[in-house]
Amino acid sequence: MARYIAAVCRLCRRSGEKLMLKGSRCVTKCTLDKRHKPPGLQIGRPRRLSDRGRQLRDKQKVRYSYGIMERQFRRTFARAGRQSGITGENLLVLLERRLDNVVYRLGFAESRAQARQLVGHGHITVNGRRTKIASYLVREGDIIGWRPESMSSQYYKQLAQTIEGKTVARWLSLDRQKLSGEVLSLPTPDDVEAKFDIQAVVGYYSR
Ligand code: SF4
Repeated sequence: MARYIAAVCRLCRRSGEKLMLKGSRCVTKCTLDKRHKPPGLQIGRPRRLSDRGRQLRDKQKVRYSYGIMERQFRRTFARAGRQSGITGENLLVLLERRLDNVVYRLGFAESRAQARQLVGHGHITVNGRRTKIASYLVREGDIIGWRPESMSSQYYKQLAQTIEGKTVARWLSLDRQKLSGEVLSLPTPDDVEAKFDIQAVVGYYSR
């Protein structure tokens, strides 16, 4: 499973905005507040982007936010195109339904990268079954929980305090006693936290 392992703050600097890839650190000590220029561009005026360049930047923003490599992102886009409806909206829904995103949205992890690690290390279950695939697409009625062995970990024990007072997306419900979540309904494009120019992504792949 390929993943991006270099400094993620570079991705925010490249995108020119905070993508909140590091959880609470993004709120308390954001690199972008001090170094806002794109990486590698220390002198001179920033280059003017062409239309294609803007589409690429917007596409990368979505990809970085969900922590997906290009090949998988392209495959997800192709899948969205095969579904009925508007491709851009289908893409957002497919991304939002990913198991690592759901774990993050339930508050079990500070960032999607951390959520992906929790899933990859086998701590998370879907309907009682251990699921290690971060790209697993949740369905309505799925119950997201913890593997019994992981419940004795320090991380799990502190989680109840961490998620106290957190609100979850309206398409999910969180049982704070059992530390489990349920998918009440499939997400809609309006449920996506960040605002992306999804038409630019469609434009980028349509050429
Ligand atoms: Fe982006 Fe967070 Fe790094 Fe700030 S701290 S640049 S929001 S990843």
